[in-house]
Amino acid sequence: MKLEGIHHVSSITGDAQVNVDFYAGALGLRMVKKTVNQDDPTVYHLFYGDDNGSPGFDLTFFEYPGAHPGRAGQGMIHRIVLRVASEPALDFWERRLGNGRRSPGSIEFSDPEGLGLELRVVGTTDAPLTASHPEVPAEYAIRGFEEVRAYSANPERSRELFENALGFAPEGATSWQVHGDQRGGRYVFDPAPAEGRGIPGAGTVHHVAWASLDDEQVTWRDRVIERGAQPTPVIDRFWFKSVYFREPSGVLFEIATMGPGFAVDEDPEHLGERLVLPPKFEHLREQLEATLTPIQVPAATRG
Ligand code: ZN
Repeated sequence: MKLEGIHHVSSITGDAQVNVDFYAGALGLRMVKKTVNQDDPTVYHLFYGDDNGSPGFDLTFFEYPGAHPGRAGQGMIHRIVLRVASEPALDFWERRLGNGRRSPGSIEFSDPEGLGLELRVVGTTDAPLTASHPEVPAEYAIRGFEEVRAYSANPERSRELFENALGFAPEGATSWQVHGDQRGGRYVFDPAPAEGRGIPGAGTVHHVAWASLDDEQVTWRDRVIERGAQPTPVIDRFWFKSVYFREPSGVLFEIATMGPGFAVDEDPEHLGERLVLPPKFEHLREQLEATLTPIQVPAATRG
């Protein structure tokens, strides 16, 4: 039994339109679902990814309008690393983004609210998960998750849970491979910066979800309980099922099922174009449509 790498990474934005312009516009991702936070339906939950909304490339954002800027600290993810195919792809993104710290095989940059991102040249046999965008040549498109990096003062504290419950394979002292039969990813700790505590807020990561085969999620939950974690019950998120727990260094983990996926309630050709509500929130539609910030997906985002 293995986890199939990173399923999605969920973060916080204070401004949904700025968020859409960056992820669906500048980065050329597809908005695959426009919905609401199922724990607080008065705020958006926006999902960006590849053309099919595949597990393995879902960047999701909760919008808290006007949220104060946060800062990653101890027990928080501070960078999301995404795959590209080549150095010419990095040249393309360096020009398109107009900023970023370039090094061989990598460019680091931040989203408009300070969320740490990196594009990295990765050779892999994993299928590329790409979104078509008229301004992004297919060979340069972002291809899915490679890793998330978190701050921890004591990575050893997390080792037992990672290696004995979750099947993470160690790669040195502070890095783990998370590789299933279809896809892989990586979880890495860095020492926390000296300048004080983390502050949750706009531009910070809320949680990382690891991908589980649909019929193995309950067993993963049992395994983390045996190793001392305190997971939630299985929660039906409609497009996938979720279990949440904090890993010992403080980062919120989720185990999410690969299915049923985002096309369960929308035509795959038109994912993300209208506000979609899970059935239990449908009775609130009129009220929610009146209060949620109107957002425009950039016109030229789809090929
Ligand atoms: Zn999640």
